[in-house]
Amino acid sequence: MEKTAGKVSWRETWSIYKRAARLLRRYTPGLFAAVTAWAAVTGVTPYAGVYLSARVLEELAGARRPDALWRWVILTVAVTGALALAGHALERWKNVHYQRFFEDRKRIYTDKLLDMDFEDVESQRTRDLLAQIRQDENWAGLGLQKTPYLYEGILQQAIGMASAVALCAGLFTARVPSSGSLRLLDGPVGLLGLLGAIALPTAASSWLWGVVHRMEQNAATAETATLGNRIFGAFGFFNRDAFRALDVRIYGQQRIARRYMASNLVFSADGPFAKLDAGKVGLLNAVSAALSGLPTGAVYLYVCLKAWAGAFGIGLASQYIGAVTALADNVRTLLRKLSEARNNAFFIRIAYAFLDTSNAMYQGSLTTEKRSDRRYDVEFRDVSFKYPGSDSWALRHVSVKFKVGARLAVVGENGSGKTTFIKLLCRLYDPQEGVILLNGIDIRKYNYHDYMDIFSVVFQDFQLMSQPLGANVAGSADYDRERVTKALTDAGFGDRLAALPEGLDTMLYRDFNGEGVQISGGEAQKIAIARALYKDAPFIILDEPTAALDPMAEAEIYAQFNDISGDKTAIYISHRLSSCKFCDEILVFDRGSVIQTGTHEALLSDETGKYHELWTAQAQYYT
Ligand code: ADP
Repeated sequence: MEKTAGKVSWRETWSIYKRAARLLRRYTPGLFAAVTAWAAVTGVTPYAGVYLSARVLEELAGARRPDALWRWVILTVAVTGALALAGHALERWKNVHYQRFFEDRKRIYTDKLLDMDFEDVESQRTRDLLAQIRQDENWAGLGLQKTPYLYEGILQQAIGMASAVALCAGLFTARVPSSGSLRLLDGPVGLLGLLGAIALPTAASSWLWGVVHRMEQNAATAETATLGNRIFGAFGFFNRDAFRALDVRIYGQQRIARRYMASNLVFSADGPFAKLDAGKVGLLNAVSAALSGLPTGAVYLYVCLKAWAGAFGIGLASQYIGAVTALADNVRTLLRKLSEARNNAFFIRIAYAFLDTSNAMYQGSLTTEKRSDRRYDVEFRDVSFKYPGSDSWALRHVSVKFKVGARLAVVGENGSGKTTFIKLLCRLYDPQEGVILLNGIDIRKYNYHDYMDIFSVVFQDFQLMSQPLGANVAGSADYDRERVTKALTDAGFGDRLAALPEGLDTMLYRDFNGEGVQISGGEAQKIAIARALYKDAPFIILDEPTAALDPMAEAEIYAQFNDISGDKTAIYISHRLSSCKFCDEILVFDRGSVIQTGTHEALLSDETGKYHELWTAQAQYYT
């Protein structure tokens, strides 16, 4: 898929993380500061212990002065105690930021979704990328979210390395006093031998670890894991959703779920991951671990020989052993982290492919200025539109002018283009041909968010949130309670509201609160209408939100709505003609075109027209 495939170079890895750091700093300020402070303290802590205990040993094996010994012991306890305390305090601080980051990182994606052209929000590419990002995160914490953890690890190891180098510098400058063969240890042979014995197994162990890591976490295994997780996600808790539970019982759908679960071997003992672990991965991991032990042996040998030959005492010997062993450990872990970072960069690239989705829609800057007279004239001028990826026109040569404050009906059979007409009006898409004008100016020239402000739409598949009733209507936790109450009353929810003990604070649905109320489809509809009224936009549109109701009930709601929409320009959409007959103007859609316009009476009098045909066909329901 586009630039998400292929190997990531070190250079690209660096620029990927530079961008990741900028993003994370913006979304979770303070995260890097907290991680840096923690890594600095915990990075030096082991070395402080090594240094101070070496001083105690030195004094014990040397001059044995009680006051000096006491001083070192007290200092050791005080410093290691203070570092441990600071480490724990900083860990809490760090964890608080991680917790915040865990939530904030989701905003990186949701903000982008809010900002994207609607066409891209719906696209398969977007859905695929998001699914992949989520799966990679859930499966092995891969992607952007791994960035601070990698930074933490790399910094901690780097600080550890610097401390270790400072502590073991003396190991190479201390001279073996005798003239025996052990003088060799001071020369290049001894030094290169030691470095080689540390560096070669460390490098080999880290390299092998990188190989193993890439075998376990790569594009192909991510895909396998995705499949496994998807099957589990879809069928593992098949009847968890209340809306499905009934179908599952009646049609015994658990049989399908069980079959999928039985065949989902991805994470089982016979699955590909288990096989990998039992085979090559396990073997190479063991070799890597064995290699990582070799430097410790070499360090012991070198330091002990030098101490035995008299280059330094027992205290320094313990300091050098501690420092060099830890240094080898730091280097090995650092190399692993770097290789892990490069491997993870591959997964961050997928997140960037999503975040870099460009906005093709032109974004103008004109404001729609809040006009007190609500005079917003809209005109469709010869508009034609095809959905992305579709060959057929969903709308063809549509020309319509809205009268301000009028009641406009859009009728027509299912699939005739009514909803598409509204989607274009709300600029969810731009037409391929023709132009839509607001007060004589192409709507593309307006600031998009400003333009959105002039519409309230109740879509057919509106969604309410599992939030308090008032917040649902206002779309915000802080709202004008009086206005919300009025909107609900106007929408016909007044009696029900009065019966709710907690009124506007009543939680809808039970997702978050056992006390939440389950509302019926009709009630949900009224709340959705109240939400549209509360927004108080100059255009108010009902796009068959009543489709589940019988025609009589729909007609009643539409007529009621007519009274409450006041001076707003109202647009009603329905495939049921009777619901809209009160409107000032009716547009009859047929296969994407407006084929008739007029009042109900005028349209009905044309006996050869589509309206008459549809009316006669539907009349049986209303008589
Ligand atoms: P109506 O609201 O009158 O029922 P629509 O405006 O929803 O009709 O649909 C008009 C035409 O556009 C139909 O042929 C429908 O199949 C097609 N269509 C609607 N939505 C999409 C979409 N997202 N992608 C492709 N085609 C679509």
